[in-house]
Amino acid sequence: MKAVCWEGKKNVQVLSVPDPSIINPRDAILKITSTAICGSDLHLYDGYIPTMEKGDILGHEFMGEVVELGSAVKNLKKGDRVVVPFTIACGNCFFCKRDLWSACDNSNPNAATAETLYGFSGSGLFGYSHMMGGYSGGQAEYVRVPFADVGPVQIPDELSDEQVLFLSDIFPTGYMAAENCNIQPGDTIAVWGCGPVGQFAIKSAYLLGAERVIAIDHVPARLRMAAAEGKAETLNFDDEHIYQKLTEMTGGMGPDACIDCVGLEAHGMTIDALYDRAKTALYLATDRAHALRQAIRACRKGGTISVPGVYGGFLDKFPFGAAFSKGLTFKMGQTNVHKYLRPLLKLIQDGKIDPSFVISHRLTLGEAPNGYETFRNNQNDCTKVVLKPTWN
Ligand SMILES: [Zn+2]
Ligand SMILES: [Zn+2]
Repeated sequence: MKAVCWEGKKNVQVLSVPDPSIINPRDAILKITSTAICGSDLHLYDGYIPTMEKGDILGHEFMGEVVELGSAVKNLKKGDRVVVPFTIACGNCFFCKRDLWSACDNSNPNAATAETLYGFSGSGLFGYSHMMGGYSGGQAEYVRVPFADVGPVQIPDELSDEQVLFLSDIFPTGYMAAENCNIQPGDTIAVWGCGPVGQFAIKSAYLLGAERVIAIDHVPARLRMAAAEGKAETLNFDDEHIYQKLTEMTGGMGPDACIDCVGLEAHGMTIDALYDRAKTALYLATDRAHALRQAIRACRKGGTISVPGVYGGFLDKFPFGAAFSKGLTFKMGQTNVHKYLRPLLKLIQDGKIDPSFVISHRLTLGEAPNGYETFRNNQNDCTKVVLKPTWN
């Protein structure tokens, strides 16, 4: 089959690789019908995530048709159309039982590395380094899905791929970020970063009852989308003093909750260095936290800071005193995708949201290298790239 392979820093190639096969009774093999490039794939592209190996197959946002099933998967049949969560979860462990799917204890066979860094490892992830399980991703013609009796959700025929593809990651991620704000009637929510996750956080904040959403970025295409599609008031941080402006806009109070959809910033320092020295150099700062610092400063007293991330290592000059003094609540983490799949599919079916609005570029799998470069450089107003396998 053809697959998008990581060949080194800023080097992805479409190569011929062996087809995946069933390894465990709970596996399924999907024939991919649509897949997307995620902002977090750019961290891999830029070479910031350690434990990638030449030839690794990328992609954690994908959907497709079931073509083969392990003997233990009873809830799916060949021909089913499914979307798959980017987090891999067993469904049986302490964490899965408590809806903390991204903390699954049984899906990362290489947990030791993450344990060195974090104390404990999160779940395995598709196409996201050997440290996170070494699973092949879905930017390919076929993919193996472990724990297929738990993760994939069946999609009704009347919904198009583009309407449901983002249930795999960015829609639940933006939704959980908004849900973590514990939104009350009348609330004003400020969102830093208007990439795809930010766009879904904006829409989700309104779906959950926010009265106003204020969106902050400096990429014109993203700000235009936040205003036109998301109905957010927008601020360009190149032109405005964000703390002053937010204070003015909220009658001197500050926003009730602030969502940081910027994260570690791909051009910040790498976590490789941290990984190498994790045991001895505990005071290294690795992640650039400018947006997060601004959010903590701007948030109203007693408010909430919600962080869908992504952060990898340590933060320097973290304003813990401001957070303490104002009594802020912090909520964060990898998305518990499994928890949101069915409720959010229902919102799409009911016409409450059509996630396809974020797509700016539609390419074939063969054009993936070009897609990575365009997305990486914000060229041609690129907000989101969807890839179709060439045989489609
Ligand atoms: Zn993603
Ligand atoms: Zn589990």
